[in-house]
Amino acid sequence: VNYVMTDVLIIGAGPAGAVAAALLAQRGHKVLVLEKQLFPRFSIGESLLAQSLGLIDEAGMLEAVQAANFQFKNGAAFAWRGKYTEYNFAEKVSVGYGHTYQVIRADFDHILIKEAQRMGAEVRFEVEITGAEFVDGKPKITTRDAQGNIEIHTPKFVLDASGFGRTLPRLLKLESPTNQPVRVAYYTQVYDKIPSGAFDRQKIRVTTHPEHRDIWFWLIPFSNGLSSMGVVGTEQQLSARGATYEERLWNLTNDDPQLRELLKNHQPFRPVGELKGYSANVSTMAAPGFALLGNAAEFLDPVFSSGVTIALKSAHMAVPLVERTLKGESIDWKAEFEEPLRYGVETFRAFVDTWYDGRLQDIFYYEKQDPTIKRMICSVLAGYAWDKSNPYTGYKTLQRLDALAKTCRKGS
Ligand code: FAD
Repeated sequence: VNYVMTDVLIIGAGPAGAVAAALLAQRGHKVLVLEKQLFPRFSIGESLLAQSLGLIDEAGMLEAVQAANFQFKNGAAFAWRGKYTEYNFAEKVSVGYGHTYQVIRADFDHILIKEAQRMGAEVRFEVEITGAEFVDGKPKITTRDAQGNIEIHTPKFVLDASGFGRTLPRLLKLESPTNQPVRVAYYTQVYDKIPSGAFDRQKIRVTTHPEHRDIWFWLIPFSNGLSSMGVVGTEQQLSARGATYEERLWNLTNDDPQLRELLKNHQPFRPVGELKGYSANVSTMAAPGFALLGNAAEFLDPVFSSGVTIALKSAHMAVPLVERTLKGESIDWKAEFEEPLRYGVETFRAFVDTWYDGRLQDIFYYEKQDPTIKRMICSVLAGYAWDKSNPYTGYKTLQRLDALAKTCRKGS
């Protein structure tokens, strides 16, 4: 068995791992990223939020992302039973980018990790973390590569950025229940063949099922004629609609006259896949010797495309604390990392919860919306969920959205 030393070992080369690796390498630390798969690899999560662009910029990766000609995105559109509403990110109240991209994640994630390498991080693919032990905060990480070779890593600190792999939560039994019910997503990519002008390719389009307000579809156009599309609902709701994922996805899609019309000429590109029970939480986001980034810690729900933004934000928040830990300072990770990160996660949680019970949808479709409030809501949809100057962020969000929904319901 080979023993390997480094300053920081990062599990996973997705967006959270790549940005954390880049920031640490830029500050002169020795970083080793270990990734189970070979890149480029497929990932779900293709619609970014505007705040993520700022986080990519601060990591020094914006030029490389811009050079890839991804689909420009300037907002989100929502449609239900012939109603349609748009949020243009440029109208947000928060300071920061007002646009972003819709990305093929295989390419996007590959760009980010190559940038981290360029900045000095060492990255090894096809190496899986299979064991983890922390004795007095000292990490001992076991890995296995594609040839079956086992190594033991004894870094000074570990960042788990393994996304839905949830490596440390699984190995250290940190998983805790989520408040989200178990939902299922069927997803695919198609040559959409939507005639130009038939819909706004610069926005994600979220359609609510005409009969079931807790079933929704995404349509995320890319710059190359493909679109990502998918449906989310409970297993019971979706499985009743056909024998295969394919049948279920298209039967449900065809329930909506507008989606059916938009996609009537589509041609398949990728077989329909299923993701189930992706919502997850943890009992702690950090303990001596490690911290959890992005989806490795918590995943709420895909409806507001918040996953990559939360992943990048967590990387930016963790890195200065890792640096201070390496200098020998003792850090209160709960107060300095978990609580500030959860502020934004709670914002999204309130949006997600009120989306599924219809309150937020009533707010979205209310025609006499106060323009200032609309801009505040737009800020969150653009990813600025940590902006404390916006009353629709943080722990009071649920209460505020509830009051707003009541006003909108009365007024309509
Ligand atoms: P990931 O991108 O998942 O990267 C983790 C990496 O770790 C992977 O490459 C994996 O191979 C590697 N890994 C795992 N286990 C190990 C191990 N033991 N050893 C070594 N390597 C390991 N987010 C958005 O922002 N926009 C969206 O539109 C969106 N849509 C979504 C739709 C659905 C249906 C779902 C379920 C999620 C969606 N998300 C979306 C969420 C998004 O996919 C994730 O939030 C995002 O990919 C998280 O990034 P990450 O860096 O934390 O992890």
